[in-house]
Amino acid sequence: MGKKGKKPRCSSSGKIQYRTEIDAKLAIAGFAAKGRDEARAYRCPECRKWHTTSKKRRGGKKVAEREKNAVRNAVRKAAERQAERRGGQGD
Ligand SMILES: [Zn+2]
Repeated sequence: MGKKGKKPRCSSSGKIQYRTEIDAKLAIAGFAAKGRDEARAYRCPECRKWHTTSKKRRGGKKVAEREKNAVRNAVRKAAERQAERRGGQGD
């Protein structure tokens, strides 16, 4: 047998592959314990496995803002749809 602890790597990104989101998140928890930057798990479209990516604080706010806007839009659309339905029923 080869060396222990050798992890499979993505042929596309070269990142360590995790079989599940849980595995990736456990790895992230390990990074955090070592004082590494915040990271998140994402599923790789190339290998269909999970990878971790570290996020610098810079730009993070922008992403959060965009996500917030997306949620807000979704909520508004749902409300509009509901209002339409109500109108259609002649409430
Ligand atoms: Zn990959």
